[in-house]
Amino acid sequence: MKRIALTVFLSFLTLCLTSCRVNWFDRTYEVPWWMVAIYLAVWITVPTYIAGRYIMSKKYACPSCGKTFYPKFWESVFSFHMGDLRALRCPHCGKKDLCGPSYDQ
Ligand SMILES: [Zn+2]
Repeated sequence: MKRIALTVFLSFLTLCLTSCRVNWFDRTYEVPWWMVAIYLAVWITVPTYIAGRYIMSKKYACPSCGKTFYPKFWESVFSFHMGDLRALRCPHCGKKDLCGPSYDQ
């Protein structure tokens, strides 16, 4: 939870300092920080939501107890991963480990 709060806080600070000047043909426009923030929020939120829903729909197998489970949305979005392996907490035994996808769907 601390990592999420720190990420949100640093993103907010970065956006507060962000504004840019756009040259469109011969005119120059000053783009305020909130337009950049809206663009980035949509650009980050939509793919994250789509990826989270996709990962959530896959069944993972726990290496400790061997049982399969579907990860929760936030866990699937923010979990550490290497390829198909994801660091997930097993709802059956409670251990957090690198879980691979289960192909017995
Ligand atoms: Zn387990």
